[in-house]
Amino acid sequence: MTEQNNIQIDNLISQNDAIELASDILYEVELLKKFDKGKTSTQCVASCARMLHDKGCADNDLFSRSACRSGCSHCCCLFVCVTPGEGELIAKDIKKLPSKMYDRVVSRLKRNAEIEAEGIDEYTRKKAWCAFLDRDTKQCVIYNNRPLSCRNYNSEDVEMCKAAVGNLDGETPRTAMLFYLHQVITAALQIVYRHIGVNYEIQTPLHKSVLSALYPSKGKWS
Ligand code: SF4
Ligand code: SF4
Repeated sequence: MTEQNNIQIDNLISQNDAIELASDILYEVELLKKFDKGKTSTQCVASCARMLHDKGCADNDLFSRSACRSGCSHCCCLFVCVTPGEGELIAKDIKKLPSKMYDRVVSRLKRNAEIEAEGIDEYTRKKAWCAFLDRDTKQCVIYNNRPLSCRNYNSEDVEMCKAAVGNLDGETPRTAMLFYLHQVITAALQIVYRHIGVNYEIQTPLHKSVLSALYPSKGKWS
C-alpha cells in the first residue's frame, strides 16, 4: 500500500461507520458478558471486535481478493501487537495444548519476548518466527484465536511479502477494502475502550502479552 493510497483511504474513513461499529461492539459485549462470566470486559471487547471483523470479511468476500492462503506464512515473523484482553484470550487457549507443544510454545514465547524488548527494527531484522507458527505445517496453532492485527494483515502479492521479510523498508500491497475495515475497527475500538475507561494506546507486543497472562506474578513479563 503506497503512502498516497494510505492518505486517500484515511480520508475516506467515515466517523459514522466507526461510531456504528463501536455501538455494535458494545451491544455484543453485553451479550457475551451474560453468557461467558469468565471473560473480563477487555477480553469481551477483543472477542467481539474479532467476530465483527471476521463477519465483515465473510459478508463482503474480502479475503478472496487477497493472495493470502492457508499455509502461507511469510508474514508470521512480523512484529505483532495485541489489543487489551487478547493476551489473556490466547493464554487460555494455549493452556489446552498437549504438554510437549505447550513447553515448545512457552520456550519460543520467552525467546521472542526478549527480541521484542529490543524494539521493532531489531525484531524485523532478526526474522523471529512467531511462537505460534508450526514451522513444519506452516499453520498457526492458535488460528481461531489469532490477534486482530493478524486477521487484518493481508496482501495482494505474495512475492512482495517474501521480499519484505526482514526488510525494514519492505511494503506489501494491502487489499483496499480490508485496509478500510481495519481502519474503521481501530477507530471503533478507540471509542469503545474510552467508553469503558481503558487506554487503547497501550498496545503490548504479542509474546510479552501472552507471557504476562500466563505468569501474572512474574514481574519480568508484566
Ligand atoms: S500477507 Fe503475504 S505472506 Fe501473509 S498470508 Fe498473505 S500473502 Fe501470505
Ligand atoms: S499469531 Fe498466528 S497468524 Fe499471527 S503471526 Fe503468529 S502464527 Fe502468524
